[in-house]
Amino acid sequence: SPFFGEFIPAGLPEQPLLAKLNANENPYGPSPKATAALSAAMAGGNRYGWRELMGLMERLSEKEGVSPKHLLMGPGSSDLLEKTAMVFFQGGGNVVSADPSYMSLIQVAKSCGASWKPVPLKTDWSHDLPAMEAAIDEETKLVYICNPNNPTGTITAADGLREFCARVSERVPVFVDEAYLDFLEDGMKQSMVSLIAEGKNVIVARTFSKIHGMAGLRVGYAVGLPETLERINAITRAGMGIACTSIAAADASLSDMEFLKSSRERNAEVREFTFEGLCSLGHDPVASHTSFMIFPIALEGRDFLDKMSAQRVGVRAFEFLDKKWCRVSMGTRQEMEVFLAAIAKTLVG
Ligand code: PLP
Repeated sequence: SPFFGEFIPAGLPEQPLLAKLNANENPYGPSPKATAALSAAMAGGNRYGWRELMGLMERLSEKEGVSPKHLLMGPGSSDLLEKTAMVFFQGGGNVVSADPSYMSLIQVAKSCGASWKPVPLKTDWSHDLPAMEAAIDEETKLVYICNPNNPTGTITAADGLREFCARVSERVPVFVDEAYLDFLEDGMKQSMVSLIAEGKNVIVARTFSKIHGMAGLRVGYAVGLPETLERINAITRAGMGIACTSIAAADASLSDMEFLKSSRERNAEVREFTFEGLCSLGHDPVASHTSFMIFPIALEGRDFLDKMSAQRVGVRAFEFLDKKWCRVSMGTRQEMEVFLAAIAKTLVG
């Protein structure tokens, strides 16, 4: 049966995948500037990377319009999602989020003894903000919003979300996971980060794993009020887990605008190709704003994953809203051709 709505693959496939489309990785990354900086930083590996981390934090604070005290660094944003959950839910309580959504923070909250108050997405796939606000009670320790949302690839409009965060954060901190925001044309305009400079108790999480193509190098960060981040840092030394080589790579990637632009553009092209390909096979994909896409499938999730894996295609399968779904990450165009051929063999639209 699905775990939190997701079918977990039985194990690693015997042969390497021809199309690895199961983890929302960037097929084009890391940027050549990042790999050059990473190689150059290797010889400094005998030292802890605190000085370099401070340098990266300076650059990030300029980008985000806050001070370095408003930043918490981690080996990937997972680290910060999990640590936030550990700190906020030590004494139980509940977390309000959309359903379906990205489950990392919620799973850790549950394992700390908190309960999850899921609020279904609306039929247009956006967050049901009034229902989420109504779900908050005196036990609520945090609201989690993933925008754009995973696993659906859909967005909630920034204006309404900003009003929601400004109002609700007076009662309870709001955690906004913006892992995929950079895939939007005007991503930074839709970010909730400006609320933090206004003193609102909002935490925004970002990662170098997606548009920067550095999933295996593990760098992410959170932006929030210093007093909120201090609660997390008091228990865990957040930046301690990042390799100096990864810090150098992230710093170089930050200013490689050409790479970021080309990642976004190629992703959008491949997404259109995949959307049309699925439609012409008779499927009904949900319009995506991210580097992945979902569509309903007729097969049982495990069976579907096994059949795709036998064709050396890695995807994910979910069950929510009384349907089974495939989530496919955007690879190269060639990988998507392999994927579409496997879908045509496996599923009847
Ligand atoms: N948040 C969302 C919405 C994600 O989809 C992911 C990874 O897939 C993460 C956070 C965590 O990524 P990382 O730990 O690589 O930054």
